[in-house]
Amino acid sequence: MDHRTLDTPAPTIFDRLGRPLRSLRLSVTDRCNLRCKYCMPEDDYAWLPRDTILTFEEMAELTAIFTELGVDKVRLTGGEPLLRRDLPRFVRQLSENRRITEIALTSNGVLMADQAADLSFAGLNRVTISLDTLRADRFRTLTKRDLHHQVFDGIKAVVQAGFPSLKFDTVIIKGYNDDELIDLIEYGKTVGGEVRFIEYMDVGGATDWSMNQVLSRAEMLEHIGRHYGGVQPIVENSVAPAERFRLPDGTSFGIIPSTTTPFCRSCDRSRLTADGMWYLCLYAKDGLDLRAPLRQGRSRDEIKSLITAAWEGRADRGAEERKALEALGLREQRLIEINRLREDPHLEMHARGG
Ligand code: SAM
Ligand code: SF4
Ligand code: SF4
Repeated sequence: MDHRTLDTPAPTIFDRLGRPLRSLRLSVTDRCNLRCKYCMPEDDYAWLPRDTILTFEEMAELTAIFTELGVDKVRLTGGEPLLRRDLPRFVRQLSENRRITEIALTSNGVLMADQAADLSFAGLNRVTISLDTLRADRFRTLTKRDLHHQVFDGIKAVVQAGFPSLKFDTVIIKGYNDDELIDLIEYGKTVGGEVRFIEYMDVGGATDWSMNQVLSRAEMLEHIGRHYGGVQPIVENSVAPAERFRLPDGTSFGIIPSTTTPFCRSCDRSRLTADGMWYLCLYAKDGLDLRAPLRQGRSRDEIKSLITAAWEGRADRGAEERKALEALGLREQRLIEINRLREDPHLEMHARGG
């Protein structure tokens, strides 16, 4: 990278609610090797056409443009990002961009055993493994696949690779895994990972969602507090979605209360799909096509103008708007009808990344 650009800090652009453009999620593939009940529960999916999928070079170029507008944190996600062949090569490309202060990855862990060391060597900073249950039979029910043991092999490899940060993301669903909060915290301790409990969200792919399956942040805290005899909030100056807490023995854990207590007001995140559509909100129905201008050979400045105009017009508060529907008794209506999901894969959680 040109050292002159590094002497000049990237200008930060702000949206209509004064939120900066900071964190970019790159969905490197919409494919997945699991079929989680809360994300991809259907049998059939429409996939993004292969010729539309950005190459690593194209994705790195778009990311570089974003970093010239204030993005400094990048998270690789999907679908299952480890299904994308040669992912460490992409991590290395990103790590050469010195405006990026943090490269993180969210994975289901199934393919991690073979890739953790290479990813670490390539410059990956943080790993989040989605782990909803410690029980193999439940894993099979939740994901329709018998691959629980591979997740644990993957976690072992992450620990061995010595990543500075390991987190576990756990979507809690009443009647499925709401009795595992304590077991998961205890498991996290044994491998040095912080567990973050996510309230079940009514996103595009969650076609089975209903409010009565959501274990709320308040219910989680009550349950955990009762077991450990006290939970203290950790006060920190952060726009991260997780609220963090400390147990009497010093162990920390997080809760991401997107459903009952949305945090849209401080949201600096946006998402780029594997085929180059840019979404300003997890719930946004429309995105901005960045693949077309990139493949047409438009200049960096032209693409920057498109991004700036879109971000400066952003007023998205998707989760807060979903929450507001509760008072009207309308939240149980499906976010997007299944037929519509089948027509446009971009509306799915697995296409735009969690
Ligand atoms: N396949 C990878 C994984 O599972 O970690 C990355 C993509 S996945 C879409 C990213 C995150 O979104 C996962 O932690 C998953 O648990 C979360 N997620 C998916 N559907 C969700 C839902 N309905 N509510 C809350 N979180 C959800
Ligand atoms: Fe599960 Fe992640 Fe795959 Fe969705 S993308 S089905 S959350 S593993
Ligand atoms: Fe950000 Fe949209 Fe999620 Fe709200 S719903 S936190 S605006 S991505």
